[in-house]
Amino acid sequence: MKDIIRTAIGFDSACLEHHPGDDHPERPMRLEALRPVIEGALAEAHTVSLPKRAASVDELCRVHTPMYVDRVRATAGTTIRLDPDTIASPFSAAAACHASGQLLEAVDTVFDGRANNAFVAVRPPGHHAEPTHAMGFCFFNSIAVAAEYARARYDVRRIAVVDIDVHHGNGTQSAFWDDPHTLFISTHQAPHYPGTGAISDLGGKDAQGMTLNIPLTSGHGDREYVAIYSALVARVLEQHAPELILVSAGLDMMDGDPLGSMAVTPSGVGQVARALIAAAARTAGGRIVFALEGGYDLTNLRNGTQACLEALYTADVCNLTLSPWKESELGDARHVLPVWRTRWRL
Ligand SMILES: [Zn+2]
Repeated sequence: MKDIIRTAIGFDSACLEHHPGDDHPERPMRLEALRPVIEGALAEAHTVSLPKRAASVDELCRVHTPMYVDRVRATAGTTIRLDPDTIASPFSAAAACHASGQLLEAVDTVFDGRANNAFVAVRPPGHHAEPTHAMGFCFFNSIAVAAEYARARYDVRRIAVVDIDVHHGNGTQSAFWDDPHTLFISTHQAPHYPGTGAISDLGGKDAQGMTLNIPLTSGHGDREYVAIYSALVARVLEQHAPELILVSAGLDMMDGDPLGSMAVTPSGVGQVARALIAAAARTAGGRIVFALEGGYDLTNLRNGTQACLEALYTADVCNLTLSPWKESELGDARHVLPVWRTRWRL
């Protein structure tokens, strides 16, 4: 008989205080829209609410340069454009520090045993943020900051960061480009913003095959996403055997998102989540943290979050066997196979 799965949930109202502008797609309403889902989940048995805190300068500087962290912090109380798409309002720096802080609390929670897994609903997103500059609505790369925190605090060696957002996580790729112990896997629409994420980008000299990109043309849906994650990505994760899986859970790969052209439904999101949760159960003692990145359709944000949370609650009943290999269902992901096979058994 398996232990009861306990899920930690992060929602910090400080993240509502980032206001990039009335017409900006990355608006506070995104979190307001999914707040009822979070509150409903917190009313369930077996969920715990994460404490709130801001990531410290030292924690952020494990990924970002001190000069850049100072630059963001100096925006406090002002409105200033840091990048064509990334506008700081008076409380944006604080919101960004609190968004990263929720991920750090989630890492603590899955390592100290208060919960088995976690979902954090935060903004601004982080995966486009580079070590030296803001980019694409993102200030601090919370998922990368969380990975380095886990390494520093819990002596974790092997980590996997999986990015399901419709946009390539260029900042996360940069953060771990030369890291032989952190696996970064991304599915993303291509060609599309930010233009990075080619199959041939495999990591630095000593980390070849630890960056794995899966560029997809528009229109990929549940069938392809589920096959990609349950067969292809799951097999690589099994071989890497991470002690922690972090998921950049952008929900803009869902059907109808205004900033993406994929066709994943809430059911597909749930199946992708279950594939990753099963991988965590096989290799990481079940330790997996989902963090919201993009996602700009409010209904999708609600339904996608609900699907992830339900997958996390029911992690004890997820199918732990690897899905059969079905190359015909991979869509454009079949193109990665010849390259990936230079490093991984597929
Ligand atoms: Zn995105």
